[in-house]
Amino acid sequence: MKHYILFGPPGAGKGTQAALMVEKFNLRHISTGDLLRREIKAGTELGRQAAALIEKGNLVPDEVVEGMIAGELAAHPHVKGFIYDGFPRTVAQAEVLDKLLADRGEAVTAVISIMIDDEMVLSRIKHRALLENRKDDADESIIRTRIANYHAKTEPVIGFYKAEGKYNEINGEGAIEEIFERILSVL
Ligand code: ADP
Repeated sequence: MKHYILFGPPGAGKGTQAALMVEKFNLRHISTGDLLRREIKAGTELGRQAAALIEKGNLVPDEVVEGMIAGELAAHPHVKGFIYDGFPRTVAQAEVLDKLLADRGEAVTAVISIMIDDEMVLSRIKHRALLENRKDDADESIIRTRIANYHAKTEPVIGFYKAEGKYNEINGEGAIEEIFERILSVL
């Protein structure tokens, strides 16, 4: 089974590109952000706790998202593979994913990192705030917290996958189709 990770800062376009990959390669899309927003909408206890963190621009605990990933893997045994979007976001999550996959006799196939700089993160998310109703997109100071958390907690994941020889980086500036072509060229 294929296991592709779409990596990058908030607002890099991971969700958009994941949708294109799903269509082309018939993979199952796992977005931890979408899964968490679903819990929030459903009003579960997990959703209530997650909302308090997400709305401040902080990450939810590793164990929470790791549990969601394990659940998604178990729930879809007959797919060609998975595309992870917004996960792993910490080195601890990357280690758990390796272990979950090793237990299945599988491994991460490749990491595709969509790179944009902090100023573009800010302008993309401000634009998205006009289209989608996300509380974590609505306020510049929350976006800046997310950017800071990305640098502190998520960026170290790059070194983890570089050491495994699985890391590929592409420029995330440009048109959606152009960026998709760049992804295809590294796969
Ligand atoms: P974006 O890429 O714009 O930040 P996401 O939908 O991926 O949006 O994530 C929204 C929020 O959900 C994050 O800011 C974080 O609070 C939480 N979240 C999503 N994925 C994870 C994860 N793997 N680990 C911890 N928190 C997460």
